Amino acid sequence: MSELSLEGHLHRRCGGHYTLAVEEVTIRLSGMSARVDRAMFKCDKCGDRQHTVEQREEAEREAILTMRSAHSLLTGKEIRHFRESFGLTTTHFGELLHGLPKGIVEGWEKGRYLQSPTVDAMIRTLADREERERRAIRASLTLPPLPGEIPVAVAGLSADAHADEAVVGGAEPQSVDSSVYG
Ligand SMILES: [Zn+2]
Repeated sequence: MSELSLEGHLHRRCGGHYTLAVEEVTIRLSGMSARVDRAMFKCDKCGDRQHTVEQREEAEREAILTMRSAHSLLTGKEIRHFRESFGLTTTHFGELLHGLPKGIVEGWEKGRYLQSPTVDAMIRTLADREERERRAIRASLTLPPLPGEIPVAVAGLSADAHADEAVVGGAEPQSVDSSVYG
Protein backbone atom coordinates (compact mmCIF):
# COMPACT_ATOMS: atom_id res chain seq x y z
CA MET A 1 0.00 0.00 0.00
CA SER A 2 2.85 2.38 0.65
CA GLU A 3 3.31 5.24 -1.82
CA LEU A 4 7.00 5.14 -0.99
CA SER A 5 7.83 1.71 -2.34
CA LEU A 6 6.33 -0.94 -4.58
CA GLU A 7 9.48 -3.04 -4.27
CA GLY A 8 8.58 -6.73 -4.50
CA HIS A 9 4.85 -6.05 -4.96
CA LEU A 10 2.88 -8.57 -7.03
CA HIS A 11 1.56 -7.42 -10.39
CA ARG A 12 -1.74 -9.32 -10.30
CA ARG A 13 -2.43 -9.16 -14.02
CA CYS A 14 0.70 -11.09 -15.00
CA GLY A 15 2.01 -12.65 -11.79
CA GLY A 16 5.32 -10.75 -11.97
CA HIS A 17 6.83 -8.54 -9.30
CA TYR A 18 7.85 -4.88 -9.28
CA THR A 19 11.46 -3.91 -8.72
CA LEU A 20 13.13 -0.51 -8.53
CA ALA A 21 14.52 0.70 -11.85
CA VAL A 22 15.55 3.94 -13.55
CA GLU A 23 14.39 5.43 -16.83
CA GLU A 24 15.60 8.49 -18.70
CA VAL A 25 12.78 10.94 -19.41
CA THR A 26 12.36 14.39 -20.93
CA ILE A 27 10.50 16.80 -18.67
CA ARG A 28 9.06 19.99 -20.16
CA LEU A 29 8.22 23.10 -18.14
CA SER A 30 7.62 26.72 -19.18
CA GLY A 31 8.82 26.06 -22.72
CA MET A 32 12.08 24.47 -21.52
CA SER A 33 13.02 20.83 -21.30
CA ALA A 34 15.54 18.63 -19.53
CA ARG A 35 16.57 14.96 -19.74
CA VAL A 36 16.71 13.42 -16.28
CA ASP A 37 16.87 9.97 -14.70
CA ARG A 38 13.60 9.09 -13.03
CA ALA A 39 13.26 6.25 -10.57
CA MET A 40 10.27 3.91 -11.02
CA PHE A 41 9.07 0.40 -10.32
CA LYS A 42 9.06 -2.02 -13.23
CA CYS A 43 7.36 -5.40 -13.42
CA ASP A 44 10.03 -8.05 -13.96
CA LYS A 45 7.67 -10.12 -16.12
CA CYS A 46 5.63 -7.80 -18.38
CA GLY A 47 7.63 -4.58 -18.03
CA ASP A 48 4.70 -2.50 -16.71
CA ARG A 49 5.96 0.77 -15.15
CA GLN A 50 4.57 2.48 -12.05
CA HIS A 51 5.71 5.75 -10.48
CA THR A 52 5.09 6.96 -6.96
CA VAL A 53 4.29 10.62 -6.26
CA GLU A 54 7.73 10.94 -4.64
CA GLN A 55 9.49 9.61 -7.73
CA ARG A 56 7.66 12.07 -9.98
CA GLU A 57 8.39 15.01 -7.68
CA GLU A 58 12.05 14.09 -7.33
CA ALA A 59 12.46 13.93 -11.11
CA GLU A 60 10.75 17.33 -11.49
CA ARG A 61 13.07 18.89 -8.90
CA GLU A 62 16.02 17.46 -10.77
CA ALA A 63 14.69 18.83 -14.07
CA ILE A 64 14.17 22.28 -12.53
CA LEU A 65 17.77 22.31 -11.27
CA THR A 66 19.00 21.37 -14.73
CA MET A 67 16.87 23.96 -16.53
CA ARG A 68 17.80 26.77 -14.14
CA SER A 69 21.45 26.00 -14.76
CA ALA A 70 21.09 25.61 -18.53
CA HIS A 71 19.13 28.86 -18.93
CA SER A 72 21.05 30.87 -16.30
CA LEU A 73 17.93 31.36 -14.18
CA LEU A 74 18.04 32.25 -10.51
CA THR A 75 18.22 29.26 -8.14
CA GLY A 76 15.73 28.86 -5.31
CA LYS A 77 18.35 29.95 -2.81
CA GLU A 78 19.18 33.04 -4.88
CA ILE A 79 15.52 34.03 -5.09
CA ARG A 80 15.16 33.68 -1.32
CA HIS A 81 18.31 35.72 -0.61
CA PHE A 82 17.14 38.33 -3.09
CA ARG A 83 13.71 38.58 -1.44
CA GLU A 84 15.12 38.63 2.09
CA SER A 85 17.66 41.32 1.22
CA PHE A 86 14.69 43.62 0.51
CA GLY A 87 13.02 42.62 3.80
CA LEU A 88 10.02 41.23 1.89
CA THR A 89 7.74 38.34 2.85
CA THR A 90 6.82 35.78 0.19
CA THR A 91 3.36 37.39 0.08
CA HIS A 92 4.71 40.87 -0.62
CA PHE A 93 7.30 39.58 -3.09
CA GLY A 94 4.50 37.92 -5.06
CA GLU A 95 2.48 41.16 -4.98
CA LEU A 96 5.38 43.03 -6.60
CA LEU A 97 5.32 40.42 -9.39
CA HIS A 98 1.83 41.15 -10.71
CA GLY A 99 0.17 39.64 -7.66
CA LEU A 100 1.48 36.08 -7.82
CA PRO A 101 0.32 33.99 -4.86
CA LYS A 102 2.90 33.39 -2.14
CA GLY A 103 2.67 29.63 -2.77
CA ILE A 104 4.32 30.18 -6.15
CA VAL A 105 7.17 32.14 -4.57
CA GLU A 106 7.64 29.42 -1.95
CA GLY A 107 7.62 26.79 -4.69
CA TRP A 108 10.40 28.62 -6.56
CA GLU A 109 12.47 28.90 -3.42
CA LYS A 110 12.04 25.22 -2.57
CA GLY A 111 12.82 24.16 -6.14
CA ARG A 112 9.36 22.69 -6.74
CA TYR A 113 8.29 25.28 -9.31
CA LEU A 114 10.22 26.83 -12.15
CA GLN A 115 10.04 30.53 -12.96
CA SER A 116 9.84 31.29 -16.68
CA PRO A 117 12.70 33.32 -18.22
CA THR A 118 10.30 36.29 -18.44
CA VAL A 119 9.48 36.14 -14.75
CA ASP A 120 13.14 35.54 -13.92
CA ALA A 121 14.02 38.79 -15.71
CA MET A 122 11.21 40.57 -13.85
CA ILE A 123 12.55 39.32 -10.51
CA ARG A 124 15.98 40.73 -11.37
CA THR A 125 14.53 44.18 -12.08
CA LEU A 126 13.51 44.31 -8.41
CA ALA A 127 17.19 44.85 -7.54
CA ASP A 128 16.54 48.44 -8.60
CA ARG A 129 14.98 50.27 -5.72
CA GLU A 130 12.98 52.67 -7.89
CA GLU A 131 11.53 49.73 -9.77
CA ARG A 132 10.49 48.12 -6.47
CA GLU A 133 8.87 51.36 -5.42
CA ARG A 134 6.99 51.74 -8.72
CA ARG A 135 5.69 48.19 -8.40
CA ALA A 136 4.83 48.70 -4.74
CA ILE A 137 2.71 51.73 -5.60
CA ARG A 138 0.86 49.76 -8.29
CA ALA A 139 0.29 46.91 -5.79
CA SER A 140 -0.83 49.37 -3.06
CA LEU A 141 1.95 48.00 -0.91
CA THR A 142 4.16 49.85 1.57
CA LEU A 143 7.74 48.62 1.27
CA PRO A 144 9.44 47.85 4.57
CA PRO A 145 12.79 49.55 5.31
CA LEU A 146 15.73 47.49 4.05
CA PRO A 147 17.28 45.31 6.75
CA GLY A 148 19.58 47.55 8.83
CA GLU A 149 18.30 50.73 7.20
CA ILE A 150 17.27 53.83 9.12
CA PRO A 151 13.55 54.40 8.57
CA VAL A 152 13.12 57.10 5.94
CA ALA A 153 10.87 59.28 8.09
CA VAL A 154 13.79 59.73 10.50
CA ALA A 155 16.57 59.89 7.90
CA GLY A 156 14.76 62.54 5.90
CA LEU A 157 14.69 64.91 8.87
CA SER A 158 18.38 64.62 9.75
CA ALA A 159 21.42 63.01 8.13
CA ASP A 160 23.25 65.06 5.53
CA ALA A 161 25.02 61.85 4.54
CA HIS A 162 21.78 60.64 3.06
CA ALA A 163 21.35 63.81 1.06
CA ASP A 164 24.64 63.02 -0.73
CA GLU A 165 23.44 59.55 -1.62
CA ALA A 166 20.19 61.03 -2.83
CA VAL A 167 21.95 63.25 -5.37
CA VAL A 168 23.92 60.31 -6.71
CA GLY A 169 20.82 58.13 -6.74
CA GLY A 170 18.92 60.41 -9.10
CA ALA A 171 15.54 62.06 -9.33
CA GLU A 172 13.80 63.39 -6.24
CA PRO A 173 14.36 60.43 -3.95
CA GLN A 174 12.91 62.22 -0.94
CA SER A 175 9.57 62.94 -2.53
CA VAL A 176 9.40 59.36 -3.84
CA ASP A 177 10.32 58.00 -0.43
CA SER A 178 7.75 60.07 1.38
CA SER A 179 4.97 59.03 -0.98
CA VAL A 180 5.83 55.36 -0.52
CA TYR A 181 6.54 55.32 3.16
CA GLY A 182 4.47 58.20 4.43
ZN1 LIG B 1 3.48 -7.53 -14.98
